[in-house]
Amino acid sequence: MGGPLGAYFPRALFDTPFDYEAFAAKDGLIGHAGIVVFDDTVDMLKQARFAMEFCAVESCGKCTPCRIGSTRGVEVLDRLANGIEPARQIEIVEDLCETMKFGSLCALGGFTPYPVMSALTHFPEDFRPQPVRQAAE
Ligand code: SF4
Repeated sequence: MGGPLGAYFPRALFDTPFDYEAFAAKDGLIGHAGIVVFDDTVDMLKQARFAMEFCAVESCGKCTPCRIGSTRGVEVLDRLANGIEPARQIEIVEDLCETMKFGSLCALGGFTPYPVMSALTHFPEDFRPQPVRQAAE
């Protein structure tokens, strides 16, 4: 919801009223009010990585949480996808998103945590290490 830096909502949240307060209460945002619908074949870990990569590419470089955080975010999500200390990577992603959300100077760095954290929160099965994910498929 709300563009590339909006939050991903699972089916259970589809009845959220379309207003700023209701979305904020569910850790989402309306943004430019665009809606993109994915089917269940989407890989939410890849979508989270896309958000971090988008931020790294678009970052103006003025503040550290966005400039460095987005690049570190891509690296951490790649380690997670490759099954390298998954619990540790999730801890780092959560910490990184907190820092980016509250420490960035503008909405690019500040909003990137929305797609990342909503993907992790609502679709945790896609954040399992690759060998485990493949075995489960
Ligand atoms: S959050 Fe905004 S000001 Fe900070 S580096 Fe990113 S684009 Fe620049």
